[in-house]
Amino acid sequence: MPDRPEAHRSQAYQPGRHFLQIPGPTNVPDRVLRAIDRPTIDHRGPEFGELGLRVLANLKRIFRTEGEVVIYPASGTGAWEAALVNTLSPGDRVLMCRTGWFATLWQAMAERLGLLVQFVETDWRRGADVAALAAALAADRAQAIKAVCVVHNETSTGCTSRIAAVRAAIDAAGHPALLMVDTISSLASIDYRHDAWGVDVTVAGSQKGLMLPPGLSFNAIGARARAAAKTAKLARSYWDWESMLAANATGYFPYTPSTNLLYGLDAALAMLFDEGLENVFARHDRHAEATRRAVAAWGLETQCAEPAEYSSSLTAVRLPEGHSADALRAVILEKYNMSLGNGLGPLRDRVLRIGHLGDFSDLALLGTLGGVEMGLRAAGVPHRPGGVQAAIDRLAGN
Ligand SMILES: *Cc1c(COP(=O)(O)O)cnc(C)c1O
Repeated sequence: MPDRPEAHRSQAYQPGRHFLQIPGPTNVPDRVLRAIDRPTIDHRGPEFGELGLRVLANLKRIFRTEGEVVIYPASGTGAWEAALVNTLSPGDRVLMCRTGWFATLWQAMAERLGLLVQFVETDWRRGADVAALAAALAADRAQAIKAVCVVHNETSTGCTSRIAAVRAAIDAAGHPALLMVDTISSLASIDYRHDAWGVDVTVAGSQKGLMLPPGLSFNAIGARARAAAKTAKLARSYWDWESMLAANATGYFPYTPSTNLLYGLDAALAMLFDEGLENVFARHDRHAEATRRAVAAWGLETQCAEPAEYSSSLTAVRLPEGHSADALRAVILEKYNMSLGNGLGPLRDRVLRIGHLGDFSDLALLGTLGGVEMGLRAAGVPHRPGGVQAAIDRLAGN
C-alpha cells in the first residue's frame, strides 16, 4: 500500500512518545532534528566548505586528538572496514579480544578481508583481557602482529575495556603493532582520549552518543596509522584516507557527503560543548549507576561482572534461568511502548539491554526503569519491587 506510508504500523496508536531505550540508535534531540530539516546545499559550493571545516575541527575535540578525523556517509561497520583496509595488507596478523558480539563481528570482517586474526577469548562478562593480550604480544617474537583491535564499550554485554592499559601492554612488550579501538557506543558518552591513550585508529558512529540518526561514521587517525597507510596493500577505494584528507583540507569531500546529517552533527557538537564533555560523562556515569541500583534492588544480575568495567552507556540485565528476555521485551513494547535492546549471539533471549546514552535525563531514566519494573511484573519474571525507588534514591540523594 504505497499510498499509506504508515501501513506498517500493526498496533493501535499508543499515546505519548515512544521510549527508544536500545543502546543505539538513540533519541535524537529536537535541536538536532531541526538542524537537519533544512534545504540541502551544494556540497561543492562556497557555503559547504565552512561547514565541513567546522565539523571536522570540532570533532577532533570529541576524540581528543590533534590528528586527523574523517567522516564517512556510512554506518559504523563502514568505519571498521576503513580502519583495517587503510592500514593492513592481505595475510597480516591481527590480535583481537572476543569481548562480545561486536568484537566477533569485527573479527569476521577482518577474516573476510584476508587478515589472520588471533582471537583472545573472554567469558563476555568483562572487558578485554589485557594480561592475555600482553602474553600474546610477548610471544610474538617475530613481531608479525600488525594491529591490536579492541572494542572500548562492548554494546552486547555492557562492559568497557581499559584502553590505556592495552596501550601500556603493547609498549611494555616493545611491540610496534597499531592499536585500533571501536568507540561506536562510547564516544561522547564515556571518557575517551585518542591521543593521550596512544590510539592509532579510533572508529566511531553517529547514532549513539553523538545523538544523530544512523548514517555517519568516523575514523580518528594517528600519525603512525597514516604512515602505515602508505605501504598497506589491502584494496580500498571508497574508504581511502588520502583522497578523503586531501578534499577535507578545504572542508570538502571526494564524493557526496551526507549534507543534512552534517548539519545535525554541527548542532550535536554544539550541544555537547554547551553541556561540557566532563558533565556529559558524569551524567552517563550517574544514570548507569542508578540503573545498576535498580537492577540490584530487583534481585537481578548485570551481565558485566567486573565493577571497574561497568559501561556507562548501557546495562545488560540477565534474566533468571528459564525466563525469556525476548518475551519480556515484547510485553514492555506492547504495554508500555518502549523498545529495549535484545541479547546478541549466545546471549540471545538471555539478557535485555537498557540503553541510557545520548540525549537522556533523570526523568527519562525513571520512565525507562518504571517500564522495565512494570514489565517484569506483567511478564511474571521473579523479582523484588523497589528498583525504581532505588534509582530515585541515587538520583535525588545528595
Ligand atoms: C552499534 C555498534 C557497531 C555497529 O555499528 P553499525 O552502525 O550498526 O554498523 C559496532 N560496534 C559497536 C561497539 C557498536 O555499538
